Amino acid sequence: MRIVLLGAPGSGKGTQAALLKDHFSIPHISTGALLREAVADATPLGLQAKELLDRGELVPDDVMVNLIRERLGQDDVRDGFILDGYPRTLAQAEALDTLLTELGQPVEEAVLIEVDGNQVVERIAKRAAEEGRSDDTEDVVRKRLQIYEEQTAPVAGHYAELGLLTRVLGEGTIEEVLERIKGALLLGAAG
Ligand code: AMP
Repeated sequence: MRIVLLGAPGSGKGTQAALLKDHFSIPHISTGALLREAVADATPLGLQAKELLDRGELVPDDVMVNLIRERLGQDDVRDGFILDGYPRTLAQAEALDTLLTELGQPVEEAVLIEVDGNQVVERIAKRAAEEGRSDDTEDVVRKRLQIYEEQTAPVAGHYAELGLLTRVLGEGTIEEVLERIKGALLLGAAG
């Protein structure tokens, strides 16, 4: 199963991706987590990305395309993967299509988790308290939501055009949302 999970910051994408990973026994690839790891390890990528992450801005497409190419080249993705946080721009989506076509492993399903703006802000405030992420402050969250609307929301349209997009309501309990996503994935696979 090769899945792209889409949704605004705070939509619950990361939480759901982690649960789907266990359910389907396929890797959960979070580009945000890969970048935070690089920052913590002070690698050249981390040094380049740190300020952008702290400001809530996107890391340049060419850097991200290289990062995802390297990750998707690893052996553990042969039976599928869940992408969380990538692609975030149309250019990244197109580069991913090219890469996965080359690998003979195209995306099978894109799931967009939809939540209203107020809930997003509430959820991020909760995560800020729990995880202490440096980009969960109010100003940075506002910036990340703006960038999502401008640059990432069109990515859903890209997958809709390919006939791969399912929209799922992201409200309710974590379990309820998970069941909706699993249902959507089953229907997509059957249809
Ligand atoms: P996330 O954990 O997905 O919310 O990502 C945290 C931050 O990492 C984002 O605000 C961006 O600064 C950066 N980032 C993660 N994924 C990408 C991506 N695909 N393209 C550009 N920047 C990204």
